Amino acid sequence: MKSLQDIAYRALWSACGAQGLSILIYHRVLPRPDSMRPGEITVREFEWQMGLLRDHFNVLSLRDALEYLEHGSLPPRSVCITFDDGYADNLTVALPVLERYGFAATVFVSSGFLSGGQMWNDSIIEALRVLRPGPLDLRLLGLGEFDVEDGSGRLSTAMGIIRASKYLPLERRTEVVQYLMEAAKTRSEGLMLTHEGLRELRRRGVEVGGHTVSHAILASLDEDEARSEITRGKADLEAILGEPVSYFAYPNGRRDQDYRRVDVNLVRDAGFLAAVTTNWGVSSPPTPRFELPRFTPWDRSRVKYLIRMALNARQTIE
Ligand SMILES: [Zn+2]
Repeated sequence: MKSLQDIAYRALWSACGAQGLSILIYHRVLPRPDSMRPGEITVREFEWQMGLLRDHFNVLSLRDALEYLEHGSLPPRSVCITFDDGYADNLTVALPVLERYGFAATVFVSSGFLSGGQMWNDSIIEALRVLRPGPLDLRLLGLGEFDVEDGSGRLSTAMGIIRASKYLPLERRTEVVQYLMEAAKTRSEGLMLTHEGLRELRRRGVEVGGHTVSHAILASLDEDEARSEITRGKADLEAILGEPVSYFAYPNGRRDQDYRRVDVNLVRDAGFLAAVTTNWGVSSPPTPRFELPRFTPWDRSRVKYLIRMALNARQTIE
């Protein structure tokens, strides 16, 4: 028997003209709230979001959903769950919840960070978390002067350094990260999946997809570099898992800004079967398989989450 709430939601869904396949993007799922990570959801929030999906949607594996799309037999309100980058908490925090609900998921992994690596922006946040309070002079590294305060000031300093470093040449940005990690006496460990963790995710039914080696923004690379990031990332994951890796997620994922037409062709030529972006909307049978849109409601309330899912599903990408 369907609940009244579900009947109401189905009515809202059809009133909106919503249809197609919604693919959700997650990154981390934190075991508890973290003042240095205000944008990331906690396991409690993830838990109620999965409850909403169980009550009002049909959660499918990406593989099954694409198969149904192909044959025009996609069930109404179909959803896929995906995670980007390859964080260890996908295994330790999110997977037990997914298993309780019996939900399939896909994790897109940048192979270069497995077993002890870390993304540069995470390294800055982790360094600022423990750096001693006081002035921080980064002028020699091409950045300005910053102040490390206690409390919420730490986060805004970290964000300021991330913003200022974003467009530095790669080598210079690496110097900034190394300097901060040494000053903070912190090492990158534990944040990303290990090789063994990746194999365990796979053993427990999670699909693993490619996300380049170094999370490079493909649109900033020349064609040979982009090809190498895409194919090496795929080969690395296949060597660890001993099976083909079929799906790909473009780093950052916005068309033109982060990936170009040529990158779409490189991903297809590398032997992937489909790829996901971060362009909003939902997929229908004519949606290009190498530019499947994704979306995640950012609201922290159940009602707004449901409404935003319905609004997003009005935009079918063709
Ligand atoms: Zn990513």
